[in-house]
Amino acid sequence: MKLIFHGGAREVGKSCIELVSNSHRYLLDAGLKFKEHGFEAPFHVFDLPRVDGLFLSHAHLDHSGALPLFEHYNLICPIFTTEQTKELTNILLEDSYKIARIRHLHPAYAKPDLHKVNNAVNIVDFNKSYNFKNVEYKFFNAGHIPGSAMILIKTDGKKILYTGDFRLRSTEIMKGAETDFDEHINSGDLKDIDVLICETTYGGRTLNNHDVVKKNFLDRIEEVIKTGSVVIPVFALGRAQDVLLMLSERKWPVPIYYDGLSVKMTKTILRNNPSYLNNRPLLYEMFNRRVDQITKQKKREKVMGNHGIVVTTSGMLQGGPVLAYIDNMWGNPNNAVLMTGYQCKRTNGQLLLDEGYIYLNGWKTVVKCQVAKYDFSGHSDDPQLREFITKINPKNLILQHGDPESSIKVKEWAEQALKCNVYVPAVGDELEFK
Ligand SMILES: [Zn+2]
Repeated sequence: MKLIFHGGAREVGKSCIELVSNSHRYLLDAGLKFKEHGFEAPFHVFDLPRVDGLFLSHAHLDHSGALPLFEHYNLICPIFTTEQTKELTNILLEDSYKIARIRHLHPAYAKPDLHKVNNAVNIVDFNKSYNFKNVEYKFFNAGHIPGSAMILIKTDGKKILYTGDFRLRSTEIMKGAETDFDEHINSGDLKDIDVLICETTYGGRTLNNHDVVKKNFLDRIEEVIKTGSVVIPVFALGRAQDVLLMLSERKWPVPIYYDGLSVKMTKTILRNNPSYLNNRPLLYEMFNRRVDQITKQKKREKVMGNHGIVVTTSGMLQGGPVLAYIDNMWGNPNNAVLMTGYQCKRTNGQLLLDEGYIYLNGWKTVVKCQVAKYDFSGHSDDPQLREFITKINPKNLILQHGDPESSIKVKEWAEQALKCNVYVPAVGDELEFK
């Protein structure tokens, strides 16, 4: 059995690993890496002569964004994923296609390719074993975003566990991966793992206690709305719903406006009632009764200057309605922009936090309103990563989906603490397991 790393190795972005078993070829994820102008696709993956099947861990575009490209290059194969990942991936792919068209970036695939992706999907239920060609596979809740899965693959006498992105502890909307973890260990599913392929986004970093960060966040909103308005940029998937649920814990004297892609995402998430969701009835109540949903430009313009709390996309200020709201409030020091998540390098969000300016309508704008960041995360931080890896106790540990420093920090710890081989492959590397 051989693994080839086409992306997401010593980097965050374009996740894509090829698994070769006997004469069969499978892929774990097919993402894109977004750059200031355009994107990068997985390395060499389009040169493959044939792919038998693709396992998709979750909907985020750094794991799913290259799927339409695959179809475009006629590498058509079955895609295995959960029902919610299928629905949410669809929305994200359509949205990114639309944005690429608006910005005149060449999306490198055509609209029909999106339908082909949809038609290629085979729905996988959580905690159920399936067979396909020479592999047996099973998906477990990864606690990262709705639909997200860890994938167990048995082939060629080896047990491989691919974590995708995961969070061990629960958040407002997601039950953490730890929820039925002991059950999976006791049942033998997650015992005797030969190869663990683990994400390391927060390797070497400890996040502050979630409840403390949440309290500070809500206190700050209460303080600001006494004299000004608050804009809360969110990721449409996961963070938007977490923030709504946090806001449900207090009474607010001003309206809450809910705008952007998060409206569509929340509607889709509420359509089903999967067991891994936390607080679904409360989310339903918030979404349908306590917030003002903004879906039309006319209404947006009407509420724009109102005194209130705005929850909207995009989370890194790279587009979406959030920029229009900020454009309308940045000059008043009584207002505040409260960031809620990880900011990639060279995004507007990172510029705002580190340099105090952002680009609005192409203009560099030094903002006068208050700016703060609250570290919420859909990933496991360093202590959670260590706890998880220790429990799995694999024979071989592969660390990826992290900056080189993050992956290497986890490697140094694992080599000391566990008796296993640890690898931090680079893009293009191959690892063989006999
Ligand atoms: Zn993700």
